[in-house]
Amino acid sequence: ADTTETLEFQAETRQLLQLVIHSIYSNKDIFLRELISNASDALDKLRLESLTHSDLALDTSDLHITLEVDQDARTLTVRDNGIGMTRDDVVDLIGTIAKSGTAGLLAKIKEAKDADAAQSLIGQFGVGFYSAFMVADKVTLHTRRAGTDQGTVWESDGEGTYTIGDAADLPIGTAVTLHLKAEDSEDGLADYLAGWKIRQIVKQYSDFIRWPIRMAAQAPATAETDADAESGAGGGDALETLNSMKALWARPRSEVSEAEYHEFYQQISHDWQPPADTIHMRAEGTFEYEALLFLPAHAPFDLFSRDAKRGVQLYVKRVFIMDDCDALMPNYLRFVKGVVDAHDLSLNVSREILQQDRQITAVRRRLVKKVLAAIKDMQATNTDAYTSLWEQFGRVLKEGLIEERDNTDALLQLVSAHSTNDPEKTTTLREYVSRMKDGQNTIYYLTGETRALVENSPHMEAFTAKGYEVLILTDPVDEVWTDQIPAFDGHRFQSIAKGQLDLDDDTDTEDEQTKADKAQREQDFAGLLAWLQTSLADYVKQVRLSTRLTTSAACLVGDAHDLTPTLEKMYRAMGQ
Ligand code: ADP
Ligand code: MG
Repeated sequence: ADTTETLEFQAETRQLLQLVIHSIYSNKDIFLRELISNASDALDKLRLESLTHSDLALDTSDLHITLEVDQDARTLTVRDNGIGMTRDDVVDLIGTIAKSGTAGLLAKIKEAKDADAAQSLIGQFGVGFYSAFMVADKVTLHTRRAGTDQGTVWESDGEGTYTIGDAADLPIGTAVTLHLKAEDSEDGLADYLAGWKIRQIVKQYSDFIRWPIRMAAQAPATAETDADAESGAGGGDALETLNSMKALWARPRSEVSEAEYHEFYQQISHDWQPPADTIHMRAEGTFEYEALLFLPAHAPFDLFSRDAKRGVQLYVKRVFIMDDCDALMPNYLRFVKGVVDAHDLSLNVSREILQQDRQITAVRRRLVKKVLAAIKDMQATNTDAYTSLWEQFGRVLKEGLIEERDNTDALLQLVSAHSTNDPEKTTTLREYVSRMKDGQNTIYYLTGETRALVENSPHMEAFTAKGYEVLILTDPVDEVWTDQIPAFDGHRFQSIAKGQLDLDDDTDTEDEQTKADKAQREQDFAGLLAWLQTSLADYVKQVRLSTRLTTSAACLVGDAHDLTPTLEKMYRAMGQ
């Protein structure tokens, strides 16, 4: 009897298919990622079943995925020898997307303003198998469930219906055959029959899939000999493995050599120098993930360019999802390179969803703490490495003092700066505090463009004369954070270029004679001061006598709440 029947997709499935086909995704290449990920899941399931049902005597000796191209038929087949599906499975799993809330979601997608908004909504849902219809006008699926004898064939053009029937003589596993639409660059349809294109997509999205992804040499249907066919020794059905399968992050730390870490770092960073530090961690529990992060030894040239990218890639169960994952790393750690592999996310997760995901926020918090702890550790155990890291990335790390408040203390511990204490060596804030004079509560600093300019500033005179140490801050960002961070370890930051400064010869410790001298001086200079005040009215707020200077005749001082000159310049440069 004919076992074939024609069934209708559920109304909602049909609507979703229409959306998929008429492209909410601008990137059609991901169809292959989806099919390979399904095949990989099927191989995982078969292996698991072979362990839990040893009585079935399942063959797991050569689990793999094959990609087969037929130029004449214009088909691409993704084949696995995994768990397979029964006929009922196919109807349940492939014929429906009957997840609750589908209808509501569809309504929202239809209301979405643009393709991006629609895509981010669909990301909450995941199109998976159906993404095949972005590139194919017909999809045929052959499958046989491990442990059963009966095979099943399913076919659809993605419009309203599909057919399903029995099929004889199928191997265990699943083969999904795409009858490809014609190449059309306007529609984002590449030549998915081309070996180079397939290799490129697999390399980008599926390189770390743990099972081999092999490409069959192209059938020599025509006399045409292309490079692909020739390279297979003696033609035949030579198989080429396309993926490296080396997901270092998924292996225990004790089993990965330093050289392997470096090689991997080089691959993802294109940096030929070994990293300054490597962080490898695994989180188990409700939200599982692995992270492998690297601190580069030197800054890339575009660290401060407007579109500098964050260096962390997101994977979901070894499938590449995105570069530059801003949800996982704050901007001030954009120099950190590496991979985070989260196990429980949809492959179609979007940037917007990640930003709002509470678990991702928790992962990010943990990663930031890890990175800062690693730098602190370096500071304690390998001063040279830390000093050089700070030289390269200190300016970026200090942005963190402005960007967020969660890690202010940890960041302040890392800050290192020039100071009047040493002409060469920098100091940490802790070291500065340990050298503070008796009774000194304030961390004094002066900002400026270069060390020389700051050192020769008239503001310095009284401080150096009296033996106070002053931090010399020369990064533009220093102007901002010193303004916003109230204190380090209870010690206020005080710019010596701002406001009235009470050094130890303060008014209440002055004797009668000094006070009288001072009053006399005020009187003597009253005329000069009044004249200066009027002549300079356009330039300064106030002219006053000061004990601040020892050798210079005059200096300009900002109001306690004024912008410092460098900051003024910075804001002006930013057009504010
Ligand atoms: P997801 O992978 O997120 O579950 P898909 O639409 O990609 O969604 O696939 C739907 C289901 O179809 C899978 O969960 C799986 O049960 C089944 N499936 C798809 N491809 C295969 C395959 N190659 N082998 C076995 N089962 C498959
Ligand atoms: Mg899937």
